[in-house]
Amino acid sequence: MEGMRLLSAAAEAIGGTTKKNEKVRILAEYLRARTVAEAAASAVFLSGRAFPAWEETTLQAGAALLWQVMKDITGKSDAALTAVYRKHGDLGTAAYDALGTVAPAESGLTVTDVARAFRDIAAVRGPAAKTTLIRELFLKATALEAKYLVKIMTGELRIGLKESLVEEAIALAYHVPSSEVQRADMLLGDIGETLQLAAAHRLNQARMRLFHPLGFMLASPVESAAEAFEYFHDAAVEDKYDGIRAQAHIGMLQAPGEKLPSRQVRLFSRTRDNITESFPELVAPLLDFPEDLILDGEIVAWRHGRALPFSELQKRLGRKTVTEKMMRQVPVCYVAFDVLYAGGELALDLPLRERHAMLDRIFAGASHQHRERIRDLQGKLEFEPAIEQDDHQHLAAVRAPVLHADSPDHLDQLFDAAQGRGNEGLMIKDFNSVYAPGRRGKSWLKLKRELATLDVVVTSVEWGHGKRAGVLSDYTFAVRDGERLVNVGKAYSGLTDKEIAEMTQWFLEHTIVDHGFWREVDPAIVLEVAFNAVMQSGRHDSGFALRFPRILRLRPDKSPADIDTIERVREIFERQKIAYPNAV
Ligand code: AMP
Repeated sequence: MEGMRLLSAAAEAIGGTTKKNEKVRILAEYLRARTVAEAAASAVFLSGRAFPAWEETTLQAGAALLWQVMKDITGKSDAALTAVYRKHGDLGTAAYDALGTVAPAESGLTVTDVARAFRDIAAVRGPAAKTTLIRELFLKATALEAKYLVKIMTGELRIGLKESLVEEAIALAYHVPSSEVQRADMLLGDIGETLQLAAAHRLNQARMRLFHPLGFMLASPVESAAEAFEYFHDAAVEDKYDGIRAQAHIGMLQAPGEKLPSRQVRLFSRTRDNITESFPELVAPLLDFPEDLILDGEIVAWRHGRALPFSELQKRLGRKTVTEKMMRQVPVCYVAFDVLYAGGELALDLPLRERHAMLDRIFAGASHQHRERIRDLQGKLEFEPAIEQDDHQHLAAVRAPVLHADSPDHLDQLFDAAQGRGNEGLMIKDFNSVYAPGRRGKSWLKLKRELATLDVVVTSVEWGHGKRAGVLSDYTFAVRDGERLVNVGKAYSGLTDKEIAEMTQWFLEHTIVDHGFWREVDPAIVLEVAFNAVMQSGRHDSGFALRFPRILRLRPDKSPADIDTIERVREIFERQKIAYPNAV
């Protein structure tokens, strides 16, 4: 059997068991039986990705496009395909069902063929050219292979296989310690390359590479200052800036089309996208640092020493070219709060206390030609007068002030002060913790304004009423339940008219099924919602419904993989039963 056939069969077996050990065993056996090249490409696919994590490449071929291709190949009508889709609620499985006897029973596709086809699809521009290539690929595939092609292409594998299990399977397949596999994968951001090193027993050669973004360390929410103190006592406290998380890489790089490497800066978002072009004025100040660095921080919009609302900053996102006027209207600043790599040394394994000391040294040593000065006045970032005059040339990189709190009362005071400065709340970090890329643990805690907010993904939309009759303004949204998305609420848009108009356009282009007055859409738009309480309810498939949900804002900086889970909803529900027994 050819490679893609074997991969699909293995994926079926993995999805067919709920036991983690069994999943790992099946995958290890599959990997071991393949050539290293086929196994490496498979490892990427079975982590639910078309391309390695660090790469910027994307297919730019969503569910709507795949739907079109399936229609073409099967000759089925929208209504017929919709019926199949509704039976399964999963596009991959629907493809399998719909293709049935239409697809060839045998195929010669190897996993590396598919990897090559994905590169070609990513490289061509425009839906027409992409559709042609995708159709060619699907015409070669068996129904079962098509099922997994769709799942990989939409990033919704849904076989209960997290990247950490793929790492374990690699360890088992090639008889290497799983801690080494995990570390190599974290450093390289490429599970395929990690597999190749594991197979050659050369995992110790994995080196961090500048300009390959690492995973971001994430924070767990806490509801009160008292709860924060349950986890650790030696707490570093920072303002929670309401901006865009960004990893700054500074060092030598041979840019495409250039003969020689030169010192460069790249800013990567949480989704590991390169967002440098949206913030050109941050490049020069970051280049001022004489050493090679990876910094972790937040891009904030700043004026008169205060953070501007996130909606201001959002105007800068997603723009390829940023005009001088934009830069003046929404001045930005990079607030660094961590260091992951400096002067050839990884800093990840050092405790936060030492990383902070490194940051102090880095900022003290920078040849600050922009002459910003940071003074820590009760945690307030104070800039030179030049910055107060909104001269964007003078905005730069600054170091987030670090405060200490030794009691919940003290923390409450700091929280009020942070909100007084226009910031969202506090980040509370364990001084003794290492930097854990891509993990959400209890070493970093976030204390925010709302009782709680949830990050959710829009699953369906409805035409509005009255003055909103012409726009898709009512959104139903979901959280994650393992591999599934389960709806938890519906809200009328709290967005601006302009945002609603843009969203309407997006939803029209990314409709999976059109039911007339409502549409199922690509689950890709992440929202942050606030609410008054969580109720038990049969209205949604999650068994919960949010009371008075309000859309706070769009979160284009987050991907559907980052949204909250049903466990978190349950946690809030349980906690509020104690705090507000009459509320539910
Ligand atoms: P949330 O996006 O609500 O999950 O909160 C976590 C986010 O807060 C991080 O991903 C950062 O973008 C942001 N943040 C703001 N200030 C800080 C800080 N001082 N330390 C860490 N993260 C921060």
